Amino acid sequence: MTAPEGTAPVVCIGYGPAGIGLAAALTDLSYQPHREPHEGGVAGQAVYLERQAEAAWQPELMIAGTDIQHHYLRDFGTPRDPHTRFGFVNYLHAKNRFYEFTARSGYPERVEWDDYCRWVAERVDGLRHFGATVRAVHRDTAANGARPAYRVEYRDEATRRDHSIVTPAVVVATGYAPHIPAEFEVDDRRVFHSDRYLSGITALEPPRSIAVVGAAQTAGEIILDLRQRFPDAAVHSIVRNNGFSMYDLGHFVNRAYWPHERAAFAAYPAEIRAEVYAGQARTNYAAVDPDVSTALYNDWYRGRVLGAQRLHLHIRSASRIIETSPAAITLDITDRYTGGHRDRIGVDAVILCTGYVQPRIPEVLAPIAAGFAVDSDGEPVVDPIGQIRYLDGGHESGIYLHGVAERQLGIGSAASFSLLAVRSGDIAESLVTATRPLPTATASA
Ligand SMILES: Cc1cc2nc3c(=O)[nH]c(=O)nc-3n(C[C@H](O)[C@H](O)[C@H](O)COP(=O)(O)OP(=O)(O)OC[C@H]3O[C@@H](n4cnc5c(N)ncnc54)[C@H](O)[C@@H]3O)c2cc1C
Repeated sequence: MTAPEGTAPVVCIGYGPAGIGLAAALTDLSYQPHREPHEGGVAGQAVYLERQAEAAWQPELMIAGTDIQHHYLRDFGTPRDPHTRFGFVNYLHAKNRFYEFTARSGYPERVEWDDYCRWVAERVDGLRHFGATVRAVHRDTAANGARPAYRVEYRDEATRRDHSIVTPAVVVATGYAPHIPAEFEVDDRRVFHSDRYLSGITALEPPRSIAVVGAAQTAGEIILDLRQRFPDAAVHSIVRNNGFSMYDLGHFVNRAYWPHERAAFAAYPAEIRAEVYAGQARTNYAAVDPDVSTALYNDWYRGRVLGAQRLHLHIRSASRIIETSPAAITLDITDRYTGGHRDRIGVDAVILCTGYVQPRIPEVLAPIAAGFAVDSDGEPVVDPIGQIRYLDGGHESGIYLHGVAERQLGIGSAASFSLLAVRSGDIAESLVTATRPLPTATASA
């Protein structure tokens, strides 16, 4: 496709699950007979800019045998409208696997969910442009209507040319950024974040020893994968707490992922939100699911039985890289609480499963961020569907945070699938019913 330019009724930055979810919601809305003609047109003219070369879901962590962590009915459409064309059950039916699926047990594997994401991504309406990295969003000073207009600037990675699109509405669906602690910031291809796991590990010579830093689901999955790939290698698991904890899978605490919780959470002052959030964090972070916990423990225990331990656990530990040389990366390991020396190890690779961060202000919004209203924690103030409020009177901005407003709207609004369809539906509804004039979308070379 040629690079889109000119104007569009909405520009969505990112075509991961949140962007695909928005496209699915807009497409479903456009087929509703009671819609005004201009409302139906939004779906086809919406522009999606994605820096990856294709719509792939977590491609660097497509580890064989891993499964998804949410109920499969929390898909791109069912939670907002069971008649959607983009539900997981519809996908199974289209793929002629409905009965086979119902005969299996457990959550769908990640590879199947990725296939489902791609299936939806190809079938929704809209102008998609891959290899398009958005650099900045500016206020369009040429526009003199009552509502603000924005200029979304992006780089076409294939041609290395810059383009821009003017729009009254921007949806920021850029996901979270990998977190790399300062202790591990080295320019060495043998040290990488889990965000680059598969390409990083396959580019290395088979390692004899590897350190995995972190104790969440990704760390657990990566350790199990490394144990299969390199059965003779030593794997050092370095964790800050007492070992791998399990997710809080309590039935009642799961209500944090139900739609009405967003408004209740958002209504609290910032300090209470932080307390409520802390009570819910273990439902999604810093923990592993029961399958992974069992497999890790059994693997470690097998090493004890055989008297040939390959999985070394460093609990309550802080670590840092003190030297890199062609022969090894040297890590210093200390007691997290006392700072006392524990160990010094040389490894061939360090994999940082140190998580992701929700940016306070998404980087692409930096040029216009000074105009946003912020709360006492410095977070942009958003309405219950993630639309940023402006400083001058708190009116609508036409800028929506989609999956990047967890601290304001609660853990259910994290970059996860549970509320993705509902959130997408709310934003889609807001976009098509807003009384903003509809510009004409164009695609030019
Ligand atoms: C290994 C792994 C497994 C997971 N499993 C689950 C699960 O089973 N269930 C669940 O609910 N959640 C899961 N998650 C959480 C995950 O974040 C969500 O599933 C989902 O990926 C969130 O979608 P998103 O679109 O908000 O963010 P992302 O998936 O991160 O997508 C954001 C997209 O925006 C693009 N982008 C970013 N910046 C720009 C820019 N400047 N210009 C253009 N494009 C840009 C990125 O390339 C990316 O494609 C998992 C996360 C990981 C890491």
